[in-house]
Amino acid sequence: MDFNAAYVMTINGEPVAGEGTIDVVNPATGAVFATAPDCSKAQLDDAVAAARTAYPAWRDTPIEERADMLVKMSDAMAAHADELARLFTTEQGRPLDAARMEVGGAAQWLKAIASMRPPVNVAEDSDTQYVETRYVPLGVVCAISPWNFPVTLAVVKIAPALLAGNTMVLKPSPFTPLCTLRMGEIFRDILPPGVLNIISGGDDLGPWMTAHPGFDKISFTGSTATGKRVMENAAKDLKKVTLELGGNDAAIVLPDVDVDAVAQQIFFGAFFNTAQICVATKRLYVHEDVYDALRDKLLEISNATKVGDGSQQGVNLGPIQNKRQYERVMDLLDDAKTNGLTLLQGSEIPDGGGYFVPVTIVDNPPEASRVVQEEAFGPILPMLKFTDVEDVIERANDSEYGLAGAVWSKDTDKAIEIARRMETGTIWVNQNLRVRPDTPFGGHKQSGIGVEYGIEGLLEFMAPQSIMVAKSA
Ligand code: NAD
Repeated sequence: MDFNAAYVMTINGEPVAGEGTIDVVNPATGAVFATAPDCSKAQLDDAVAAARTAYPAWRDTPIEERADMLVKMSDAMAAHADELARLFTTEQGRPLDAARMEVGGAAQWLKAIASMRPPVNVAEDSDTQYVETRYVPLGVVCAISPWNFPVTLAVVKIAPALLAGNTMVLKPSPFTPLCTLRMGEIFRDILPPGVLNIISGGDDLGPWMTAHPGFDKISFTGSTATGKRVMENAAKDLKKVTLELGGNDAAIVLPDVDVDAVAQQIFFGAFFNTAQICVATKRLYVHEDVYDALRDKLLEISNATKVGDGSQQGVNLGPIQNKRQYERVMDLLDDAKTNGLTLLQGSEIPDGGGYFVPVTIVDNPPEASRVVQEEAFGPILPMLKFTDVEDVIERANDSEYGLAGAVWSKDTDKAIEIARRMETGTIWVNQNLRVRPDTPFGGHKQSGIGVEYGIEGLLEFMAPQSIMVAKSA
């Protein structure tokens, strides 16, 4: 595959080179393997102008036709799945099989969203009054995505925003721009010019976008710290925002679990994608009766886990995606070591320049330690002991974040009761990491504002319009 291809932006349906370039690094080697366009301020203006010009005709295109185009986009993605998955592994680091799952899943997601329709609610239809509320698009959407699920987290914005009748300018993370730029090229022949503009650039581009007066709505996925900056810029002209932000998700394991049956799933929920998942289990609270058995089992699984270059056969977990994040994770590990915490490290890591971190379980650290309090976004899992359910619910909820969590027990009713008391947007019972196009997903507390997915997620790209008709007039 030719990774030296000239990656281009899509502005007004045309391929556009940047006025400069940014380097794209393969995190498994630490070496630059491609460059991406560095969008200038003038090119951002072009993209916003193209989206504004395209908006009225797209808004007035019947939703069935817009939905048909999403289905065609899904088919086009599926036809390019192998190419996109290989590119994904090289820029993001995730092993190839899992990269294929992300690309295939995103293509399916486009189809699932295409089948949704916004409701029309009739409050009264009497001899004297007709009152309906329908939903209309917002205009031009500014979409900004992170590097951990670069394909999925672009598609979950593109699909509902376009179905609703908005146009869009989307920027991927500078660490993983290539798959998104390729998607822009793949979709170019399907959509009218200007409906979906894909641009890429360095650290200045995000703030330029959120401050740009040509946008009506910002759909942002990233860290809580950045989310706050996005909201500050949005406030200047009251752009609507959906913010999908960080999390420090707790899982609670009750004493009745079958440790052998749940350990693999708990491991997956904590470490899949090298733990770079907003909804990964980041604090594992385990009842003292099963603590030792689960810890030993997780360590056994970690010993059997191969960490390495995701393009190689048999690798289960890839590197940390970028140097900045690698340094953050290493700093947390150093802090844990300095404070004398017990680190259980199973997996070996390859030599070379890649950003590899061994799978690490921290054995019952103090609740106040940084590995418990901060979102690691890397393979460091603090395991914490508890004896009392009331106490553990309080500890799990004692966080500024409120994204997701999990409860594990053979007693499903009891687990659901605990789930209902968790202060998060999503709670899994005896499973984890599951998201669905028909079910809203979003963070409570500082994990976000608004939701994605489900009809509620579609309506974040629309505004209600109420029409009240006096029939007697
Ligand atoms: P990040 O906040 O550093 O960057 C996210 C995106 O914002 C990137 O495209 C980046 O270029 C851009 N950006 C950076 N500074 C900006 C600014 N001032 N204004 C506008 N845009 C700016 O996050 P990241 O490191 O790429 O992603 C990891 C974080 O994302 C984690 O905290 C994770 O929990 C969170 N996340 C949340 C969800 C969710 O659905 N809630 C999903 C995935 C990731």
